[in-house]
Amino acid sequence: MTELEDLDRRVSWHPFTQMAGWSPLVIARGEGNYLIDEQGRRYLDGVSSLWSNLHGHRHPRLDRALRDQLDRIAHSTYLGLAHEPGIRLAEQLLEVAPIGLTRVFYSDSGSTAVEIALKQSFQYWQLKDQTKKRKFLRVGEAYHGDTLGAVGVGGIELFHRVFGPLLVDSIAIPSPALDPEGARMTLIRELETRSDEIAAFVMEPLIQGAAGMLLHPPGFLTVVRDLCTRFHVHLIVDEVATGFGRTGRMFACEHENVSPDLMCLAKGISGGYLPLAATLATEEIYSAFLGERSELKQFFHGHTYTANPLACAVGLESLTLLRESTLASAQTLIEPMRQALERLKNLSAVKGIRQCGLMAGIELATNEPFAGSAVCDRIREEGVILRPLGNVVVWMPPLTLAISELETLETATRRAIA
Ligand code: PLP
Repeated sequence: MTELEDLDRRVSWHPFTQMAGWSPLVIARGEGNYLIDEQGRRYLDGVSSLWSNLHGHRHPRLDRALRDQLDRIAHSTYLGLAHEPGIRLAEQLLEVAPIGLTRVFYSDSGSTAVEIALKQSFQYWQLKDQTKKRKFLRVGEAYHGDTLGAVGVGGIELFHRVFGPLLVDSIAIPSPALDPEGARMTLIRELETRSDEIAAFVMEPLIQGAAGMLLHPPGFLTVVRDLCTRFHVHLIVDEVATGFGRTGRMFACEHENVSPDLMCLAKGISGGYLPLAATLATEEIYSAFLGERSELKQFFHGHTYTANPLACAVGLESLTLLRESTLASAQTLIEPMRQALERLKNLSAVKGIRQCGLMAGIELATNEPFAGSAVCDRIREEGVILRPLGNVVVWMPPLTLAISELETLETATRRAIA
């Protein structure tokens, strides 16, 4: 055991990790789509450093943007002050966002982006004197992060059950991936009977990532948009996982030409470099918070590192790069990835495969909840880092994955599952 491995075992407490028996892999550096450990061993980053990396590690342009900003200032607050990277990134985000979104509220993680959307929706209705609108509608098996508000609109038993007594009130509809008709009917019923109590409907568009890459039927998002408009309920779309090219379009909403009332962004927003998130809102929602200072309509929410200038500077360069070339290269990778997944379908231990753009789940033919972990431990010996979701092995590579790297991913996955 190296000195750092030993020290990590003595001082760290890792997220979503059973620390008893924990054996760390200490990453020393990155290079393109590879992570490199202390001993110089190279691992393909098959989950893009938890779904965040878009263009690979140590991209020269992103590194330069970060260094240039560092020569100006590392951090200054966005509470009562502004700065150029924050302003310019907001402008660019609105340029690529679905039409109708006109305001950017920054924070620093996917969970906070969701918390903020929930609170903005809630306060909007309070400001509009619709004070009964306090509940949130959500999807079965949903995952929107780990802070209490986000857990309140989540539905993953394994992660969320223990915190039940602490949570905000939400009403679940069945996951449209598992029961499309039930989801639609329940949504209609809830909206017909108590839309006067419901502030917003929250959902991941097209695909529920952390639930195990569950695919929604085409058209479901459009139905939801129409119903939310008809019943005066906000549509909050969580694009934390699906945003920034991951599904083959800049945002998943684009596949169905849907504009939400609030949109949550994080992960890929900084190209996977630094903690950054944004909640985008319509002018209708934003303008409800305007008034005299003494009216106290302002949104009383903010974090110390909200809109950190380094994160915004690298986010701006990442978005430029995405629009210039990375999105197009991601699109060319979708079909080869589909073919690679198709070849894995033949393995007897594989029950099913689900793919949306460059997000994929390989479901193992077992209900053993840690089967995915066993496969991913084995894959690591092949020089690939993956992280499972229960019995689902996840592929979520950087958008710049080369065909030869896709072959490495396929071969390692095949061997490990076999
Ligand atoms: N929303 C979705 C759809 C996610 O997939 C995640 C994280 O995986 C989050 C929110 C939470 O993001 P974070 O881990 O940055 O808080």
